Amino acid sequence: MNPKILILGPPGAGKGTQSDRLATAFEVEHVTTGDALRANKGMDISEMDTEYDTPGEYMDDGELVPDAVVDAMVEEALSGADGFVLDGYPRNEDQAEALQGMTDLDVVLVLDAPEEELVDRLTGRRVCDDCGANFHVEFSPPKAAGVCDQCGGDLIQREDDTEETVRERLSVYAEDTEPVLALYADHDGYVEIDGDQSPDDVWDEVRQAVRDHT
Ligand code: ADP
Ligand code: ADP
Ligand code: ZN
Repeated sequence: MNPKILILGPPGAGKGTQSDRLATAFEVEHVTTGDALRANKGMDISEMDTEYDTPGEYMDDGELVPDAVVDAMVEEALSGADGFVLDGYPRNEDQAEALQGMTDLDVVLVLDAPEEELVDRLTGRRVCDDCGANFHVEFSPPKAAGVCDQCGGDLIQREDDTEETVRERLSVYAEDTEPVLALYADHDGYVEIDGDQSPDDVWDEVRQAVRDHT
């Protein structure tokens, strides 16, 4: 059985970067609600009685997309996965409860870094429009500016990676998501990792934590 890994932490902590490495090294699926929602930004959710009619309207404001939408996406993704790294979910206590009904977990990793570092990482983040690969203009630059090293696609800045929306996302994290950490603190596989190190140094600890708990 491949490991079932949950990775938690604020926007910019490096969850996506480390999840990509985990997916390759442990042959698990990277299940990420952010990417799934970005691929469905225009989906009509008006029947769910939500404030806005599409996920994109919440995302561009830095607010959480309604639980019913996200819970259904995760349930479907996990049901088909032989081992996974789950990134971006749960983001509040109700989602954590929903997740408990869907699967058990082998490892719960928590990454963190100081707030100003998070802001610098997110405002400098660039992502490949074609393959989703992740870069940073200063901390992890592509070989040629604006061009993906992996597939040659265009690098773009996410609409919610502006400073104003980043600050809003960090405050949503503090309010809704941080309380979720306490729900996992007693889990046998719970490991806190300092995300304020180079990506390679973080990876050494991430990989070791997964080896220790599977
Ligand atoms: P998250 O998924 O937690 O929001 P990402 O993995 O997308 O975070 O990382 C946010 C930005 O910071 C990206 O531009 C990424 O290249 C960069 N980054 C990731 N890890 C580090 C690190 N350890 N040090 C410096 N920059 C990093
Ligand atoms: P980050 O780089 O901040 O970790 P994500 O790509 O995970 O960003 O999320 C981007 C946006 O997608 C969030 O600001 C939110 O609007 C929406 N989103 C992602 N995951 C969830 C979730 N589990 N619940 C509600 N909204 C979500
Ligand atoms: Zn690419």
